[in-house]
Amino acid sequence: MRLADVVGHEGALERLQRAAAAERLASVYLLTGPPGIGKRLVADAFAACILCDAPVAGDACRVCAQCTCVAAGTHPDLRTVERDEERRDIRIEQVRELARWLALQPLMAQRKVAIIDAAHCLSEPAQNALLKTLEEPPPSAVLLLTAASAALLLPTVRSRCQTVRMDPLPPEAVVRVLTARGVAPEQAALLAAEAEGSPGRALALAGDEEARIRTAVLKALPELGTSDAAALSALAQELSRGPVDAALSTAAAWYRDVLETALTGDPPRRNPDAAAAVRVVADRSPPARTLRQLEVVCDTIDGLSRNANRVLALETMLLALRALERDDALDVRQGST
Ligand SMILES: [Zn+2]
Repeated sequence: MRLADVVGHEGALERLQRAAAAERLASVYLLTGPPGIGKRLVADAFAACILCDAPVAGDACRVCAQCTCVAAGTHPDLRTVERDEERRDIRIEQVRELARWLALQPLMAQRKVAIIDAAHCLSEPAQNALLKTLEEPPPSAVLLLTAASAALLLPTVRSRCQTVRMDPLPPEAVVRVLTARGVAPEQAALLAAEAEGSPGRALALAGDEEARIRTAVLKALPELGTSDAAALSALAQELSRGPVDAALSTAAAWYRDVLETALTGDPPRRNPDAAAAVRVVADRSPPARTLRQLEVVCDTIDGLSRNANRVLALETMLLALRALERDDALDVRQGST
């Protein structure tokens, strides 16, 4: 991946390339923006550009010894720290290990580059451990952090970073990313609308399984009010076995669409293929209720990111959504059938 291959983010790229070309690199960059918009791709490509012996037009040359090692994933002066898959946070031991490594002289390039992906997952002790490196970075070190938002980091950490804000991409750019990966243009347009500027999210929705789950969710939500508990339980089971992220992302997009259509009268932006159903539900739903339903979905996304039981969380969510649909406040509190 080269910076030239990144779709969109022109402002952020120009800023980074200008600093690299002028050899005025900051010690710590923090790339911020919503999940899936390409922060990690930019960090990887910028790291390659920093390590390259002979950058061409502000980008890695791809042919020097450094670039060859970066491409092979074996460059001794490049390290990436990320969250272990089964854990919620990046551990303090990972940060301490990285600090020890950064303090050593580069082995092959002029600099050492460390990427901390999803730095908002650094535990508080880990952030405090990182602080020492940020306060006195080794002269050859460049750290590239990515995070959903700078506000998710301790003020002491973020004040030491040069923040580079990255925004969601325009829909046509998301379509370009999707079609380049073989998604049919018509499907790409639909997914781009739902993914709200995040190619990563759109790609996560692009698989056959994701498409099936999306269809199931878009069919179930308008009928929630008349579904019985057994049907909801079966749906929770079905969703829990598939890509849960896609199911919840579709549900959140559905309620955002319903809310917007109710308030503005405009057709839904995220699920244009479900325009008729959105309109029917928007006409009968008070916005305050839809907002609460959206909150229920967001709480479930949050709960699952904290390792809640999938089936139970989904079933509780569907029952709460149905209770709101029936305007039955008692049901919501008790989460009962
Ligand atoms: Zn090179």
